[in-house]
Amino acid sequence: MSIANNIKKLNRRIEAAAKRSGRDPTDIKLLVVTKTHSVATIETALRCGIEYISENRVQEAENKIPFIKENFKEFHFIGHLQSNKIKKLMTLNPTLIHSIDKFSTVQKLNDHLSQLQKKQDILIQVNTSDEESKFGIKPDTAVDFINQVSKLPNLNIKGLMTIGMFIADEDIIRKCFLTLRELFEKIKLEKIPNVEMKYLSMGMTNDFEIAIEEGANIIRIGSAIFGQRNY
Ligand SMILES: *Cc1c(COP(=O)(O)O)cnc(C)c1O
Repeated sequence: MSIANNIKKLNRRIEAAAKRSGRDPTDIKLLVVTKTHSVATIETALRCGIEYISENRVQEAENKIPFIKENFKEFHFIGHLQSNKIKKLMTLNPTLIHSIDKFSTVQKLNDHLSQLQKKQDILIQVNTSDEESKFGIKPDTAVDFINQVSKLPNLNIKGLMTIGMFIADEDIIRKCFLTLRELFEKIKLEKIPNVEMKYLSMGMTNDFEIAIEEGANIIRIGSAIFGQRNY
């Protein structure tokens, strides 16, 4: 197994999935999930042409992202955001935070951004699988939640994110992604000020091809590149 080969294979699968759904593969952003992997491993991936990297824990990101010596275009935060980690996360300049799902936390994020006189792009995380254990707002509360968050002046809502159900049945996984895409289209039609439905972040190693078929334009991939994680 080599990272270079894995990335080549992955890009071929992304291209094939895009083509069979009539999409341009260059419209799909490959966001590499580097959690649990060392700075050296991340640098290897960057030398293989990776441009977008992401972490799901602020503390881990803090110990790695500033120490990466290869260039990358963007760092995204994809994990659950705790309010006591907001300040630290902001020092890492994430291009996009994928996982906004709680009004009190997002309010604190907005307050901190206003002190910094900065704006932040965010996605709203939606729980499309109805699993208790998953973060994300319920689909039927999304319009209200987005209306509320849209009034916070230092945040720009740029789309939606979901984690598909971890299950073998492809029809169930597809339904999660379809739910998110339908919500995305619905919110577009609402034309809420300060809200742009640009990014649909869905699909991981096990289900990214289904996600691409259902319209994902950011896929978040770890294991297909680095192998299974050891925690
Ligand atoms: C870990 C993680 C991924 C990547 O998972 P893989 O199955 O290794 O591709 C994607 N999204 C989120 C939110 C994650 O935490």
